[in-house]
Amino acid sequence: MATDMMGIGGTVGILGGGQLGRMMSMAARAMGIRTVIWDPVPSSPAFVVADGSLALPYDSAEALGTFLSQVDRVTYEFENIDWELAQRIAEDKPVFPHPRILRTSQERVREKDTAREWGLSTTPYRRVGSVSEVVQAVRELGSPGVLKTVTGGYDGKGQVVIREVSEAAQAFAALAGAGPYIYEKWVHFVREVSVVVARDVQGTIVTYPVTENHHHHGILDYSIVPARISAAQRTLVEESARRLASGLQLVGVMALEFFVSEDGAVLFNEMAPRPHNSGHWTIEAAWPSQFTQHMRAVAGWPVVPPRWWGPAVMINLLGDLFLDGQWSRVTQVATLDGVQIHWYEKREMRPGRKVGHLTIVADSLDRALEQARMAKRLLGGEWNDGS
Ligand code: AMP
Repeated sequence: MATDMMGIGGTVGILGGGQLGRMMSMAARAMGIRTVIWDPVPSSPAFVVADGSLALPYDSAEALGTFLSQVDRVTYEFENIDWELAQRIAEDKPVFPHPRILRTSQERVREKDTAREWGLSTTPYRRVGSVSEVVQAVRELGSPGVLKTVTGGYDGKGQVVIREVSEAAQAFAALAGAGPYIYEKWVHFVREVSVVVARDVQGTIVTYPVTENHHHHGILDYSIVPARISAAQRTLVEESARRLASGLQLVGVMALEFFVSEDGAVLFNEMAPRPHNSGHWTIEAAWPSQFTQHMRAVAGWPVVPPRWWGPAVMINLLGDLFLDGQWSRVTQVATLDGVQIHWYEKREMRPGRKVGHLTIVADSLDRALEQARMAKRLLGGEWNDGS
């Protein structure tokens, strides 16, 4: 299987045409690499920036044949791509990161088991399939905790908090039919952080500065870099990412999310073998961006140690802010110093849907946060929490 350096004019196929595929494609284009994007949704935001697009179902044999005939190697932009499709593609063309990593990331128990295998710490957890197993897990691991679907959950969907054992049956019923499940002991965290790690085919590994993440209703609301954690915690996060990237033989970019608990422990929560929302700030505040770094690795080019230019805040723009259909008013924030608008050109504004993001760069984190609050206010949004 060819894993040599792909030349200018080579084509990377991308499974998925959302904003991540779009930003991957824009990065590839700057490098002279072509992209062909396969996504069943004809209005996919990545299509307008790709060299070719395929709006056909993922189970279409015709689409698979066309895709394979147009690409030199393949990557994907989200975890819910059928890993068997990725595996089938890998029989013909190199797929990075390897479909085995995609499969691991799709199942919470397998994901945490794998992280533990490579020496990362997690909150206690257990796979459960019935009410009695949930009851037993709550008794043995302790409460509060959270019952999650093992597959398919994202942005906080498919999760129910269990405060005490008497709530087990109700929680199980709330997720009915979506099993199997994982019960995890609740982490009293002071920070949620993530790190983007990149590894190339030669095995070189680099990491980006650790990012602090703030969620609202289970969706990433804003990210801050540098994360406000201790130097020792930062080192632990980076070392964990390196160990997992090496253990999994990653090629490409992967994000790992962690909780920093009240007692100072750094606990792995989940991973995504692709560029990540919490790494969007790297477009303005680092070189190369996570998207450029990913395309470099996928193309067989070496990854490079990222240069980091300084503090940044990234705010997600959700459809909720523009349900009035007046989304062109996003330009209101263009007058603010240090603010870059990213707009994904999604046609439909829906609550909870990520439709764009802002990156705010400044000489100090305080100043970046000040500008970020102002930007959010100008758009009619609320600043959630007291940072
Ligand atoms: P996840 O889908 O695992 O990323 O969970 C979504 C969000 O729910 C996380 O970002 C946390 O804010 C919260 N959460 C999930 N699992 C736990 C846990 N075991 N302890 C505390 N908070 C959690």
